[in-house]
Amino acid sequence: MEQLLPIVIREYNVFKQYIKELYKQTPIQEYTRSFDVFDTAVLVSILCVSGLWALRNLKFPNRDYNQSLFGYFKAQIFLFLVNYCPGVNSYIEKKKQDALQSFSDSMEKMTTKKTLKLPDNGIDTDTMMEKLEEWIERDSKNYGSGKVSGSLYVMPDKQFIKNAQDFCKHFLYSNPMHADLWPATRQMEAEVIRMTGDLFGQEKESIGIVTTGGTESILLAMLAYRNWGESQKGISQPNIVIPETAHAAFYRAGEYFKIQVRIAKIDQSTFQVDVNDLRSQIDSNTVCIVGSLPNFGFGTCDPIEQLASIAKKKKIGLHIDACLGGFTAIFAKEHGVDLGKFDFTLDGVTSISCDQHKHGLAPKGVSTVLFKTKQLREHAFFSIATWSGGAYASPSVQGSKCGVGVAGAWFTLQSIGKKKYIEYSKKIMDATQSLAKQLSEIPEIKVCGKPQINCVTFMSKENWLNVYSIHEILTHQGWTISSVQKPAGIHISLTQQNIGNLKQYVHDIKAAIDKIKANPSEYQKGGEMGTLYGTTQKIPDSKLAGQALKVYLDSLLKI
Ligand SMILES: *Cc1c(COP(=O)(O)O)cnc(C)c1O
Repeated sequence: MEQLLPIVIREYNVFKQYIKELYKQTPIQEYTRSFDVFDTAVLVSILCVSGLWALRNLKFPNRDYNQSLFGYFKAQIFLFLVNYCPGVNSYIEKKKQDALQSFSDSMEKMTTKKTLKLPDNGIDTDTMMEKLEEWIERDSKNYGSGKVSGSLYVMPDKQFIKNAQDFCKHFLYSNPMHADLWPATRQMEAEVIRMTGDLFGQEKESIGIVTTGGTESILLAMLAYRNWGESQKGISQPNIVIPETAHAAFYRAGEYFKIQVRIAKIDQSTFQVDVNDLRSQIDSNTVCIVGSLPNFGFGTCDPIEQLASIAKKKKIGLHIDACLGGFTAIFAKEHGVDLGKFDFTLDGVTSISCDQHKHGLAPKGVSTVLFKTKQLREHAFFSIATWSGGAYASPSVQGSKCGVGVAGAWFTLQSIGKKKYIEYSKKIMDATQSLAKQLSEIPEIKVCGKPQINCVTFMSKENWLNVYSIHEILTHQGWTISSVQKPAGIHISLTQQNIGNLKQYVHDIKAAIDKIKANPSEYQKGGEMGTLYGTTQKIPDSKLAGQALKVYLDSLLKI
């Protein structure tokens, strides 16, 4: 040490001398020689003031967690051009108006005589009933065609549907918020939670909330985790880590409740979440992770048992999205299919969303979110004791609500019963696996992952085959199926309504492929869906791309 120090000091002095020499030779020296303290002070103040102005007035939106730095700057430059370049904004406005017009035109085709004002005198019931008959007659040709993906899940049994309608109509004016006035809907609500929780491993007591649908169930679960993280762990900037294939409702929860959404990659051969990627994105601000059973887009299930062990180890929540698959998967073991553990009997699972209005076969407007503990559920509840209108508390997003949703679920669960559910579940799972097998035998396409529960998605294996063209051709043949992206695929969600037509589905897909093969250049662009995804994927800012989609909502709400 004693020898080292003089050497270091000597070397430092040599270095200083060298820099000084270098500085003397630079032209900057010419300018700085006449610079005095006053000049320096003025310059520093100008820099400070302009720096402060820039900090206050230039807005740089946050980078999305999974957005690359390059992608972020590309998006910022794009947004700058859109907002500040003369002509660009008005060009985009015009394109939006064109899109609105085209959406409105297609809505117009399905619109009958319009009402723009409250009629002076009420219309008589006979006239209204005539109109109703006309509407039912027309619409049922669409939703009841048996060539529709998802949407209508109940079995095509007219008597059953009529019975459900007869039961439910008595609750149109009910309001379960007033439990004292409508004790029946209160009881049905608690029983729907009890029966559903029992199916998912809550043997002694079920802890849940009845909601209007899967989206609300997921929103409430994410709200619970956010509030839990804040109160138990002091997390003020929460995040959740979800598979890229998780439902849009999780992104909505992120937007509504200011939770950062981190997206874990999907394995491109199994179409399950890449568990390592998911694990690597968890940090001390993570409140929960998510697994789908199955996901909507590809119909594949995430490895729930692995996710549960991660959640347990990290002491965070695990939400199972069984909105779509719940009422199919839960009966699988009863007809001899082992899907592994995914309910509350698996340590690590802390909440489950499950829709009665999908494979629960109930009328629309009802889902259940189940929680492992009452403490967690409490974080989703809303209450205010000091409100001027009186002490107020309600379990879900709604205040006043209609009892029809819960009545529909209660009637359906009671009247179908376990044995029939097992039968229906078997039919759907068998059909799913058989469809996947038949599609995998078509050489030009590939089934995404291993669909087991109730949806099947396929993608193209050939360069000349734009899979969206198959969608286009099938749409012209009366099919209403979905197109998915990342990767481009065609999805069908199997229901009691469409499983009878799957032979036709496979046949029509084969015929469409032959048609495209005969004339590939005509089908290169993939029709309307190909154009839509092509355009939105080219817009560098995903939020702006999303905003363009809102034009569609404008057209829905316009008469
Ligand atoms: C349908 C669905 C949801 C959302 O349910 P809604 O009832 O449409 O709000 C959530 N997750 C999955 C996997 C779904 O298929």
